[in-house]
Amino acid sequence: MKNDPERAPPSTAILGGGITGLAAGWELLKRNSEASFQIFEAAPRFGGKIITRRMEGCLLEGGPDSLLTEKPWALDLCRELGLEDELLPSNDHQRSFSILHKGTLHPFPAGCKLFIPQKTLPILTTPLLSLPGKLRMLMEPFLRHRPPEGDESLAEFTRRHFGQETLDRLAGPLLGGIYGGDPETMSMEATFPRLRELERKHGSLVKGMAGMMRQAKSQLKQGQAPSLFTSLRSGMEKLPETLTEKLAGHLRPDHTVQIIEKDGDGWRVDGERFDELIVALPARQAAPLFAELDPELSQRLNRQTSSNSATLSMVFKRGDVSPLPSGFGFMAAHPLTGLLVGCTWTGNKFEGREAEDRFVCRAFLGGPHAADLIRDRNESALIDQGLAALRDICPFIPETPLATWLQPWPDGNPGYTLGHLEWVEDLRRRAEALGGLHFIGSSFEGISVSDCARQAKTLSKSHFV
Ligand SMILES: Cc1cc2nc3c(=O)[nH]c(=O)nc-3n(C[C@H](O)[C@H](O)[C@H](O)COP(=O)(O)OP(=O)(O)OC[C@H]3O[C@@H](n4cnc5c(N)ncnc54)[C@H](O)[C@@H]3O)c2cc1C
Repeated sequence: MKNDPERAPPSTAILGGGITGLAAGWELLKRNSEASFQIFEAAPRFGGKIITRRMEGCLLEGGPDSLLTEKPWALDLCRELGLEDELLPSNDHQRSFSILHKGTLHPFPAGCKLFIPQKTLPILTTPLLSLPGKLRMLMEPFLRHRPPEGDESLAEFTRRHFGQETLDRLAGPLLGGIYGGDPETMSMEATFPRLRELERKHGSLVKGMAGMMRQAKSQLKQGQAPSLFTSLRSGMEKLPETLTEKLAGHLRPDHTVQIIEKDGDGWRVDGERFDELIVALPARQAAPLFAELDPELSQRLNRQTSSNSATLSMVFKRGDVSPLPSGFGFMAAHPLTGLLVGCTWTGNKFEGREAEDRFVCRAFLGGPHAADLIRDRNESALIDQGLAALRDICPFIPETPLATWLQPWPDGNPGYTLGHLEWVEDLRRRAEALGGLHFIGSSFEGISVSDCARQAKTLSKSHFV
């Protein structure tokens, strides 16, 4: 909506006080310090999935633990908020991780960019792949690749290029893990469009990636490569906390929005009138709000699939962990055989997370074997089974943690399934037809914190000038 100097500034309701809703509020405030808007949040606290706790003098994350440095929008937001000094790069000198396959941890082959091999020897010598699996992977530059016309799943894309073993043991855990999704149904166009682009340009991903890396190296010149991940020294929750301080006067905590109605050109949110409506909720949580007003829209929002996950943070006495593990942690190969999807050695990844005599790790639980327990929020079973599964693989983990924090995320990971981009486009058209309605957030155009910040910024630039 364009500002008309003759009229009162438009008022905006923002539903959801996760990072998307907060970033949307910040963008409105940046453009106009007199902006009129309210952010409705069901919980007493703002931040949604970004949640940090301190236990035993250690800093633990229940949701995201970092920002991908390559995606600049969340980092830009931190800088705008004066959080420059808070930015904490990952310890990339220790960056390595393993793949759990048939009960054993194997180092992820060196020389891969993502899962795309750039060196032959580490592939030939890894115990993670069989000889036919290795040969199939290394044949990629010599094969002709015929991408399908439309969208394609991550699984099909990877199989076409590198075969099933690369999918199960490298690409699935690495890329599927980011989305907590099933590679067989994950949309390539919506999740990793740059890999599709690489294929369109070069045919072979190995060749395309080599070219990209040469270019990146020459652009960096003498400069040091930035760390892969960035976190905040006081914890990720510092970001929503700071936004909350800046947005005082615009916040409506403990308010679960129940009814949305159309009122002329504008909207009513639980009876209160606004000119514009920004819905920054997960799609399935937004669906019931539109059931009366636009049943078709509501059904379409409801169509998004989601998966369950949980983080299990554990603090141990450091002296009891022997030997101390190296690297950032591990991810489990597919198909998952238990509820353990992966684990991060928190203190190896970031400085300052652990008190001096403490050791912290964070297990990810999910997949079909954990779905019911997470949905039922069966915390004690998840803690017991999660710890037992971890100790099976890593006997150096002591039997009794000093503290545990189980954070379940039922339906916490939106499914970016085949046809996702068309689904988003359809929603956008329907929202436009209703007028003054916008859907942004992790369900729609990217799940990372940075993607959420980008969506807020883009919306504000295009509609709230
Ligand atoms: C375990 C886990 C690890 C992750 N790790 C990373 C990572 O390392 N890096 C990264 O970039 N991303 C990561 N992500 C993804 C990222 O954290 C999320 O995509 C992002 O935080 C979602 O923000 P959001 O504001 O869109 O949604 P949410 O955080 O879900 O916020 C939505 C808000 O809406 C509120 N709400 C719901 N219904 C109503 C209603 N009717 N009325 C009012 N309020 C309502 C909810 O209470 C909630 O606060 C991770 C996600 C999970 C689950």
